[in-house]
Amino acid sequence: MMIEYKNIYKSFGSLEVLKGIDLNVEKSEVLCIIGPSGSGKSTLLRCLNHLERITAGEIYVEGELIDANDNGHNQLKLPQHKMAEICSELGMVFQRFNLFPHMTVLENVITGPMTVKKETKEAIIPYAEELLELVGLSDKRDEYPSRLSGGQQQRVAIARALAMKPKIMLFDEPTSALDPELVGEVLEVMKKLARDGMTMIVVTHEMAFAREVGTRVVFMDEGVIVEQGDPKEFFDQPKTDRARAFLRKIV
Ligand code: ADP
Ligand code: MG
Repeated sequence: MMIEYKNIYKSFGSLEVLKGIDLNVEKSEVLCIIGPSGSGKSTLLRCLNHLERITAGEIYVEGELIDANDNGHNQLKLPQHKMAEICSELGMVFQRFNLFPHMTVLENVITGPMTVKKETKEAIIPYAEELLELVGLSDKRDEYPSRLSGGQQQRVAIARALAMKPKIMLFDEPTSALDPELVGEVLEVMKKLARDGMTMIVVTHEMAFAREVGTRVVFMDEGVIVEQGDPKEFFDQPKTDRARAFLRKIV
C-alpha cells in the first residue's frame, strides 16, 4: 500500500472540508479524483506533504505514519529530515506551473536534486536530459520558462517533479489553467508515466483521461467520498444521484 488515509477530518476554523475520508492507494494505481469545486480534493492531496495538517485521523505513506490527530491531541511531529524524506517521495504538480523564472528549463529540473539531495550537477544532468526527452522538451533545455507555452511549462514542471525520483506523483488539476489546445500534450505525458507503472493520484476535470487512464475513480462531494470504483462502470452507470447530477453538468 502506497498511501492510506484513515478516517480523515480537516477543518479550517469552523469550516469542515474533509469529513471522514477512508482511502487507500496501491502501487501503480492511477487514482483519479473528481468532484465539484470546493469538495476538498486539493486539501486531501495537500495533507500528504503537510501543506495542511489534518484535524483527525491517520495518514500513512508506504506504511509509515506521517500524520495523526485525535481532534487536536497527538498531532504527530516528525523530525524535519524525516518529513523532507517523505516529501521527496511525493512529486507534486499543481494547476499553476510555478517554475523558477530566472532559471532555464534544465536548471529548473536539476535544482531539486542538487539542493535537497546534494547530487552533483554532473551526476544529475544526464538524468535530467532523459526526463526532458520523456516530456518532449529536449530542444528547450536552455530556454527560460517565459519563452515557453503553458503546456510546455507544465511538462517542465512534471520533469522537475520526476527529477526527485518520487515514488508517487500527485497532480492537482494539472491542465485546468491551460488553453484547450495545450491540454492533450500534458495528458499524453501523464499517460506515459501511468504506462511506466508510476503510482499516481490525479485530481482532474478531464473525464476522458480518468476513464481511459484511471485504474479507479473517486467521486468526492462536500468532504466525503460519495462513490468510487472502476472508471468505466462509474461513468457509464454511476450509482448515486449526486454522481449522476455532477456528470450531467460537466459532460
Ligand atoms: P477542491 O480542490 O475540491 O476545489 P479545496 O480542497 O480546495 O476543494 O477546498 C475545500 C474547501 O476548503 C473550500 O471551501 C475552500 O474554500 C476551503 N479551504 C481550502 N483551503 C483553505 C484554507 N487554507 N483556509 C480556509 N479555507 C480553505
Ligand atoms: Mg482544488
